[in-house]
Amino acid sequence: MEFKGDYHTHTLYSDGRASLEEMIIAAKAQGLQELGIADHGPRNIGTGVKNESIFLEIKEGLNKLQVNFPSLQLKVGAEADVLNLTGELDISKKVIKELDYLLAGLHPYIIPQGLQGVDWILENQIMKVFPALKERVKTNNTKALVEAIHNYDLWAITHPGLKMDVDAYEVARACIRCDTLWEINAGHKFPSYEKVQEVAGYGVDFIVNSDAHFPESVGCLEYGSWVLEKVGVPPEKIKNAKVD
Ligand SMILES: [Zn+2]
Ligand SMILES: [Zn+2]
Repeated sequence: MEFKGDYHTHTLYSDGRASLEEMIIAAKAQGLQELGIADHGPRNIGTGVKNESIFLEIKEGLNKLQVNFPSLQLKVGAEADVLNLTGELDISKKVIKELDYLLAGLHPYIIPQGLQGVDWILENQIMKVFPALKERVKTNNTKALVEAIHNYDLWAITHPGLKMDVDAYEVARACIRCDTLWEINAGHKFPSYEKVQEVAGYGVDFIVNSDAHFPESVGCLEYGSWVLEKVGVPPEKIKNAKVD
């Protein structure tokens, strides 16, 4: 299976190791038709963009570079963080409007919003010592993600279940209801074959992304093609599959 684009990549603006141009050159070399830059939201500790206006800077940078790379469609996105159980994200609606698409995911090292958000993120940490919290944490992770899917126009959710367990059925139902894609994260080789089989059974649509932090990983989507073919997911259920 081949893919027309990679839409989850990071640059020096967050915790990636390369410039916009270096990522673009890599995408072109990989034969992609589209490249999306989706740096981390500002409340990702140590790895987020300095502030949300950086996304506008990225947009401007991509607009300028687009002229030099006519064969590659450049898009500006973001990988926003979910901040609390009401599904609030760390990018304002004003900035979101300027983006070509929006991704969001659960990350354990963020500055949450509100006391309830603080409890939720803390419990994700102390659960390692108090396994009795596990079920409650999973329920809350699911709630936070499902609310975000309902409250925002998300194109896809990134690596659902990675480092923060969720109820796949509940999240899949929200994705189907809101037309949100379930990401296969090739960089993390996540989720597993068994999980992809489970959520494919619920009827979600997928997108395969690299989560590249280096030019070398842009367009490296082999895990996605392997796992989706093994499960038998048809190309029309995979948003960025090349169908021609
Ligand atoms: Zn992520
Ligand atoms: Zn990422």
